[in-house]
Amino acid sequence: MWQGLEGHDEVVDRFRKTLRRGRLASTYLFVGTAGVGKRTFALRLAQSLLCNQVPDEELTYCGECESCNLAAAGTHPDLLVAQLPEGKSTLPIELFIGDREHRHQAGLCHHFSLRPFLGNRRIAVIDDVDHLSQESANCLLKTLEEPPPDSLLILIGTSPSRQLPTIRSRAQLVRFNPLSRETFLRLVTANGIAEDLDAAGRLAESSNGSLERARLLAAPELWEFRAILSRSLDQSEVDSVKTAQLVSDFVDEAGKQASVRRARLKMVLQFAADFYREKMRNDHRVETLDQLDHCLKAAEYVDRNANQATLIQWWTTQLGPRKLAPAHPS
Ligand SMILES: [Zn+2]
Repeated sequence: MWQGLEGHDEVVDRFRKTLRRGRLASTYLFVGTAGVGKRTFALRLAQSLLCNQVPDEELTYCGECESCNLAAAGTHPDLLVAQLPEGKSTLPIELFIGDREHRHQAGLCHHFSLRPFLGNRRIAVIDDVDHLSQESANCLLKTLEEPPPDSLLILIGTSPSRQLPTIRSRAQLVRFNPLSRETFLRLVTANGIAEDLDAAGRLAESSNGSLERARLLAAPELWEFRAILSRSLDQSEVDSVKTAQLVSDFVDEAGKQASVRRARLKMVLQFAADFYREKMRNDHRVETLDQLDHCLKAAEYVDRNANQATLIQWWTTQLGPRKLAPAHPS
């Protein structure tokens, strides 16, 4: 296990070998399910490379030098971190090249091009690159094509297919696998997400090796809602209006943060998809398959940041008795 990060020994080995050969690339694209440790790995890799006490090729850090302290506190001047701002659907251009008054004098691309303050390299970690707009990608392209000497840029997304080809072709791909069942069970119990192995086992069924999903699922109200939703879907004719209200209320209860509400809505859609998959096993009806398909489509729309109310209405109408479909949510 590498510095408390479980389940990714292959990735650790790969980087250690690369560093021993002195062949670190300038840009990496980390992909894999959300919540398996990509960002944690990126930040620890950065700290290892910035640490003043331990040589790079050992791929570890001392945890005590000035660099380590600053990196751990998230205030290292040579470590730049960017992510999707709350309430935004794309990584805005300002994040990369500064706002209108400070174009090319601020933002990640500008700071990344400056000489390192403390060590001998600058490192940037950009999370949520699934949400990179074409405009922002164009700004980033110059940095990818002419990276500062010894710099390292780590992009974090979920799948290669969700990246713009211009970005994908200029980065080395690193895949992070979902956590194995064994690792997953150990981590959810060790982190207090599940009380015991029984609870951890239940989470494992629905979490697909993602700790992030497990954290969301661990909320007891989610399981209660799952039962309520199943009852609502288990009617000969689904009451679209009632189901829409039920889902809207439950999603809104998650809080004000749009990202948290989105995560909850996705969970609800997953529950519904599970319900129809199970039903499919018993009745083999085309209609059930259609309903399952609508759940999966709706989940895709959540990823594309469709309007919540419109999306829920569209989805529940598709589940109900056949009638004229309302406008597409995207
Ligand atoms: Zn150190």
